[in-house]
Amino acid sequence: MFEKLAVAAVLAVAAPVALAAPMVQQLADNVYMMSEFHYVSLVVVGEDGVLITDPAFTPRAQSMKAAIAGITDKPVTRIVLSHEHYDHVGGTEVFPDAQVICHASCQAVFDLDVSGAAPGNVDVTFTDSLTVDFRGPTVNLYYYGPADGFGSAVVHLPEARVAFTADLYEDRSLTHGMWMDDDNYLAIRRVLQELRKMDLLHAVSSHSDDTSVRIVDENAAFVEDLFNLVGGAIGKAMQEGGPRQVMMSMSMWPQELKLPQYADWKGYDEHLPTHVRRMALSIFHGG
Ligand SMILES: [Zn+2]
Repeated sequence: MFEKLAVAAVLAVAAPVALAAPMVQQLADNVYMMSEFHYVSLVVVGEDGVLITDPAFTPRAQSMKAAIAGITDKPVTRIVLSHEHYDHVGGTEVFPDAQVICHASCQAVFDLDVSGAAPGNVDVTFTDSLTVDFRGPTVNLYYYGPADGFGSAVVHLPEARVAFTADLYEDRSLTHGMWMDDDNYLAIRRVLQELRKMDLLHAVSSHSDDTSVRIVDENAAFVEDLFNLVGGAIGKAMQEGGPRQVMMSMSMWPQELKLPQYADWKGYDEHLPTHVRRMALSIFHGG
């Protein structure tokens, strides 16, 4: 218990305490995006209540609640968590009328939480897909594999042509290596392919105010090039000496394999080796 309280105290100090107003952008009828403290959420207004994604942590959830009151007097009744990572899932207690929705694999991770950030219970789970019925714009949740964390959800609003994902890509920038440990590149590849099929107007990502579909297209191309580069090296090593050759070669690839066409992306020199390593492990042993 002491350990749990100590960690919670550290997080409480680290979290912003002053309430500010989130940046609010309307994406379609009854569909909004709210951005504050470097986290972005969807806010979708239905006849029975409001659906939000990722309140993230308590002060941000309080600020969102105040901003939502400026849009509608309906309560938040659905909270969709994009994945189980604790920095995305706090603050649900600010919305006591809401059902918490997360992929079926989330609860097992929440049960391990010592920070106090995870919600106590997930009210609604899904495995492959779920349509959230709150008499509002259609909101479909899809699971395409453990892209970032075990329970990565894709939130798709087909009439609004909006999708929301968390932590899967950045804009002409390679995600810092320290955030890559929990990434499965084959699932990220699949998510990006599915996003491209959705014919979106807005591709919302959890830490960016830019919803341009271009960013999805560019990252899908990057991941495909990385897949072909690393997959080619694995195939060649398999032919030469089987799995043993792959295992011997794998430690060299992060330094050897390059994608110079992306050299102008931020973080290329520093973080490409980690992305190569993640892709190699995702292809060769599944995670
Ligand atoms: Zn994140």
